[in-house]
Amino acid sequence: MVLFYKGLWYNNSMKKIGLLGATGSIGTQTLTILREFQHLRLSFLSAHRQTDRLSELVAEFRPDFVIVTDPDAYSQVGRLDVPVYGPDDYISAIEQSDADILINAIVGTSGLLPTVKWIEWGRTLALANKESLVSAGELVTNLRQQSGAQIVPIDSEHSAIWQSLQGNDPKSVHKIILTASGGAFRDHTKQEITGLPAKAALKHPNWSMGQKITIDSATLVNKGLEVMEAKWLFDLREDQIEVLIHRESIIHSMVEYVDGAIMAQLGVPDMKLPILYALEHPKRLATSWPKLDWSQIPTLHFEKPDTERFPGLALAYEAMRKGGTMPLVFNVANEVYVEEYLKDKITFYGITDRIAQAMADHEVMQQPSVADLLALEAQLRQQLKETS
Ligand code: NAD
Ligand code: MG
Repeated sequence: MVLFYKGLWYNNSMKKIGLLGATGSIGTQTLTILREFQHLRLSFLSAHRQTDRLSELVAEFRPDFVIVTDPDAYSQVGRLDVPVYGPDDYISAIEQSDADILINAIVGTSGLLPTVKWIEWGRTLALANKESLVSAGELVTNLRQQSGAQIVPIDSEHSAIWQSLQGNDPKSVHKIILTASGGAFRDHTKQEITGLPAKAALKHPNWSMGQKITIDSATLVNKGLEVMEAKWLFDLREDQIEVLIHRESIIHSMVEYVDGAIMAQLGVPDMKLPILYALEHPKRLATSWPKLDWSQIPTLHFEKPDTERFPGLALAYEAMRKGGTMPLVFNVANEVYVEEYLKDKITFYGITDRIAQAMADHEVMQQPSVADLLALEAQLRQQLKETS
């Protein structure tokens, strides 16, 4: 079937996308995909403080509406050709939207509410915002079972696992192997790392990403978050999730089956592929992007993660084991202290030392509601900032 929509013709594969966090790294790469594949149309997009490019984005992508999530930026945003919703009314706006799929590419625990709501409404979520699934894993999983919603991963490791699961029985998975680049400080001693500023940690060896996730890669907190993300996405036990340092980031992750067969997904480190696969699976669309040139890759390296130099990973496993509200505490503490490190107010190890303290001070509440989680997030953010 061919459709005529907003002055253009489309075939019936047209898909409407809601994009939260459109101005960030994942958001910008999603927009690049939308430029290349005209059947993918924007239903809405959100910006937080970066509102300067909104009119340009509206003119180019013609979304039905836009969202500005920061209260001050919202109160100052000028007139646009489409309706603008703010932090207090954007949830009901996205509920009423005709988006077929929501890409949640907000950074941090602020992505929790749209994740929870979208799943509650039984809709399809393409998840970049791992912090929401980590903080509210049990709740989101229960809601997903009740509503029949689908969560498709954007995170490259989880996309690799999802791709490696195709055509196989999920019950025959023995374990998954999450690969990690090792981050900016992988070749430094503990003593050297202690004195290194955020500017050095922001130089990721393989990926170009937002600031927070780049610091999270250096501390291995990102891999810890991904362990918890994998647990909820693929219904795995702790002993089924292994982390392996693979410095080239060519193998994006692997699945080992009970018979010993290992399936992996490989390719150049480029987030556009997992974003496109999340939108189009099981179809694979031909792209113009650079492909892997094996002649340029003489060796692939693998090693065990060093939890002595990078204690973030062990803390994440501990948060996962304690469950309930503890993963949220791990997350919020990390967000608060990564910000402090980015301002050079604390050292690199100050981040994980303070996460450990915040976790030690917290009394876990099991099976928290959304309201419990949101209240705890606000309270912790305030409290940890004051005492840092
Ligand atoms: P980024 O910092 O580049 O962009 C974040 C986006 O969120 C921006 O659009 C920003 O305006 C918006 N934002 C910031 N604070 C907000 C708030 N309080 N409320 C609402 N919106 C807010 O981050 P990124 O690197 O694009 O990462 C986004 C998410 O995707 C993170 O959860 C990250 O872990 C995940 N992710 C990113 C990559 C990557 O390659 N960048 C890879 C895997 C997963
Ligand atoms: Mg990842």
